[in-house]
Amino acid sequence: MGEAYHYTCPSCGYEAYVAGGESRIMMAKRQSYQCDDCKTVMDISTEIVDPNSESGAWPDFIPVDEIKCFHCGSRNVRVWDGITCPKCGAKMIKGEEGTRMVD
Ligand SMILES: [Zn+2]
Ligand SMILES: [Zn+2]
Repeated sequence: MGEAYHYTCPSCGYEAYVAGGESRIMMAKRQSYQCDDCKTVMDISTEIVDPNSESGAWPDFIPVDEIKCFHCGSRNVRVWDGITCPKCGAKMIKGEEGTRMVD
């Protein structure tokens, strides 16, 4: 299970379950991104780790132009800073670690 936290925005009420940075789920590394079009944050897998390689980690990066928003399909996404609300720009509150809500 990948780690994710319940982030809430005290200003506009936006909520998200994301790692807020780098995380790992199964064999994939994930990074939290924000979409500048639909103003959401999400975790996107950016690297597959091969457990059978000698070093124990064999990166296979997903090209940047393959990364797109889960919600609207936009490629106008960028790494989220783990703090700023994508909707209103307020500072979000990092809550408890929780089960990832897959939508
Ligand atoms: Zn907000
Ligand atoms: Zn989007």
